[in-house]
Amino acid sequence: MNFADLGLSEELLRAVEAAGYTEPTPIQAQAIPLIHMMKDLIAVAQTGTGKTASFVLPMIDVLASGRRRARMPRSLILEPTRELAMQVAENFEKYGVNHDLSMALLIGGVQMGDQVRRLDEGVDVLIATPGRLMDLFGRGKIMLNGCELLVIDEADRMLDMGFIPDIEFICEKLPTTRQTLLFSATMPGPIKKLADRFLSNPRYIEMARPATANINIAQAKVHVSARGKRDLLMDFLRSEEVTTAMVFANRKTTVRDLNKSLQRSGFASSEIHGDMDQPSRMAELDRFKKGEVNILVASDVAARGLDIKGVSHVFNFDTPWHPDDYIHRIGRTGRAGAKGQAFTFVTPEDAEAIANVEKLTGIDIPLFTMSPTGEAEAPRSGGRAEAVERAEPASRGRGGRRSEEKPRRQPAALEQEPRPERGSRGRPAPEPMRESEPKPERQPRAAAPAPTPPAARPLASAPPLVPTPAPRREGDGEEDRGAPGEWNGPVPGFLGKSAL
Ligand code: AMP
Repeated sequence: MNFADLGLSEELLRAVEAAGYTEPTPIQAQAIPLIHMMKDLIAVAQTGTGKTASFVLPMIDVLASGRRRARMPRSLILEPTRELAMQVAENFEKYGVNHDLSMALLIGGVQMGDQVRRLDEGVDVLIATPGRLMDLFGRGKIMLNGCELLVIDEADRMLDMGFIPDIEFICEKLPTTRQTLLFSATMPGPIKKLADRFLSNPRYIEMARPATANINIAQAKVHVSARGKRDLLMDFLRSEEVTTAMVFANRKTTVRDLNKSLQRSGFASSEIHGDMDQPSRMAELDRFKKGEVNILVASDVAARGLDIKGVSHVFNFDTPWHPDDYIHRIGRTGRAGAKGQAFTFVTPEDAEAIANVEKLTGIDIPLFTMSPTGEAEAPRSGGRAEAVERAEPASRGRGGRRSEEKPRRQPAALEQEPRPERGSRGRPAPEPMRESEPKPERQPRAAAPAPTPPAARPLASAPPLVPTPAPRREGDGEEDRGAPGEWNGPVPGFLGKSAL
């Protein structure tokens, strides 16, 4: 199958070729013909599958004919975060080079004036986060009754962020004859309901979760005490294998503190989290993309879906509370056929969180530990029963203190067998989760066995890999809980504020 088989125009085929794509990804092969046929579509797909091009490409052809009118966008793409909205806009620019289409990006954190001027001139494609769109709609700056094509992207993330009431409101303002495309990594109940209500006889396509299937990402978990995490991270980062790394933390305070601490220790790092204004977020991302810094400490909301080439390592400084975030985090590496490594730091308190991740992914994430010879057991790609690759010794380029510790390490048995009853589907619907909230109480899991040894000993007694430094506050504790409504991503529309 090639792109020409999908009925794309000559102009688009040239743009696709210029982008360097030789063949469509599975979601593109399935979605593009359906979108050309004007069908409504539900696509269950993650970032990394090529899903953006699967709707942007046919949209460009659909919009190629027709006239734009002031304040009446002809199509609308809803994205949960500013970064994703910008990424989709970049895709439009890339694939639309040979077309005369006008696009506007409505996101918070940037001046409204330019956005309104653009709308006044008439746009073919409006890419927006729900909050800013609602804001402009409320001010009468925009009319949605000329919008014949709607894309709701990352619908489950919209749900997590409280945007569903806004989306319902927006859907009601669009013509009922429109075509609607809904993309979501998972299909929790409220998203199904949304689809039932606002899509008409939709076609359904579902892609495998790329992160779990991606054999290019070698995954491992590392047992460590809460206080030993920073030293452990720095040891890893000093390894010469690490060229470019994203480090994820659960709380924005941890992101800030960790970045400061890395900079103090001489690392070229920066940070991105939802408390930063949009220009700063863009500037930091840009520095990372250009290679001015090689370590980006990030929160989930700010970094979700970011497509940055050449990230060699992902470190989950905190085990994510929400297992879906694990998939999104590790998916920042191993992109576009490159190899990547993903390490998850697991403290005794994280036992349940890591079990939830393993249940969702269907993978027993191998334990990374030191062999008696000081060699590191490499993480294995894909996590299933594949050949264990030998990594470069993890100690290379690290501090001498570390090598003195090595002989004391016990080899940990790597789990080889996938858990037969696990699958990537059938997980419980995710609870709404916000970046800066304290860890919620979790329901006991039904049939999910606790992570089996390597550590035949209880996690709580597992020694940290790195000697514990003097007691120090981790910065990811209570101080980050903030006032009610303090939220470092977009403010949900139901709070009655501008979302961004
Ligand atoms: P997405 O799932 O939309 O986040 O896309 C993930 C990455 O795949 C992006 O870097 C795209 O540029 C890239 N991509 C999209 N379609 C193709 C294709 N047909 N062949 C190769 N790479 C692609």
